[in-house]
Amino acid sequence: MDYWLYKTSMTTIVGESVSVVADEVRVYETFDDMNLPENLLRGVYSHGFERPSEIQKRGIMPMKERRDLLAQAQSGTGKTGAFTIGALSALDPDLKRVQVLVLAPVRELAQQIESVAKSISSFMNISVYSATGGTPLREDIRAIEKGCQYLIGTPGRIFDLMNRGVLSSEHIRVLIMDEADQMLEDRFKEQVMCILQKGFPKETRIALFSATMSEDVIDVANNLLQNPQRILIEAKEVPLDGIKQYYVELENSDWKFEVLADLYQQLHISQALVYCNKRQRAEWLAEKMSQQGFPLSVIHGEMDVEERKRRMKDFRSGAVRVMISTDLLARGIDVQQVSLVINYELPIQKENYIHRIGRAGRFGRKGVTINLISPEEKRAVSEIEEHWKITLEKLPTDLGGIM
Ligand code: ADP
Ligand code: MG
Repeated sequence: MDYWLYKTSMTTIVGESVSVVADEVRVYETFDDMNLPENLLRGVYSHGFERPSEIQKRGIMPMKERRDLLAQAQSGTGKTGAFTIGALSALDPDLKRVQVLVLAPVRELAQQIESVAKSISSFMNISVYSATGGTPLREDIRAIEKGCQYLIGTPGRIFDLMNRGVLSSEHIRVLIMDEADQMLEDRFKEQVMCILQKGFPKETRIALFSATMSEDVIDVANNLLQNPQRILIEAKEVPLDGIKQYYVELENSDWKFEVLADLYQQLHISQALVYCNKRQRAEWLAEKMSQQGFPLSVIHGEMDVEERKRRMKDFRSGAVRVMISTDLLARGIDVQQVSLVINYELPIQKENYIHRIGRAGRFGRKGVTINLISPEEKRAVSEIEEHWKITLEKLPTDLGGIM
């Protein structure tokens, strides 16, 4: 078999960011080496994956071999594929019960994971479903009663389904948390803890995946996981180097709009995401841009569920080229054509900077980030630079070379 032992470094504590302490782990260079069920392997290839990414080379097999897992890897490196293939390899297609439960922080991400799982499992004859709140509960109940085997959901809805006795943990073999650090902080933490307190069989394996780690995740991991395989794909191995990061300094934040309009005209981008911190600002900006003849769309968490779905669909299909968003879509969302991320405002939480810019440059593609900086935000820039050990470059006046 084609593998070697891989050893990563000790914990690195850079500023407040925390990294997983990694164990030795076997590296499988091809999907064929992993001895996956035939109909799963077929699905992997037909999904378009030819060779495993770094996290997939290391993360799939521990899940297949029924180990707990704590995995940290940069955004855009294929974590979804890693846990989807890992979980599918541990599932019994003949048992029509929920066997895999994936928790994700937002609806759009849950739906994206659902579509990846459906595609990769398309030859396995299994039932994949996402339950996300904001939709009628009876649809979820029906899907589970009809024999859903691979369930993805947001914590609130999943807890609700468990509480009503609709969803039983009895047959759950794998419990996965995507964006684990977000799932184990503030508002999600309580819901996730409630879900965990519902009780899982001792055979249930737990896998935590995240691009950034926090003390909370490490704590929970220490308390919850049994002898986990710990994997760290360090930033230097899978850099965000592919993403050039620029800033434009403005004397007055009112000028940001002109700069954005200018960028919109000058840059020939495939697709772009523009981030604002608050819903009101996002809506105001969308309105103003549209009035000036720059077509784009906007999405935020207080929008009607169906509307959110429709707008995401238009963005994914490319019908909409530019999307303004709040941090609702800072994490996990994968639209391969996005090559530019503009921070109209810098994120309030430093973590979100990395998550936002990770929406461009998926899977090693090239990407560009442009940060529009008002005088009040200058401090935040140095904090971000220091925290992430990066340097933002001044945006050149001639934009020809940047995209
Ligand atoms: P992450 O969750 O680590 O941020 P994703 O799982 O969303 O990353 O994957 C990012 C992109 O990389 C997706 O478009 C996905 O289809 C692509 N990708 C993942 N694994 C592979 C692979 N083995 N081969 C080719 N493309 C891949
Ligand atoms: Mg992800």
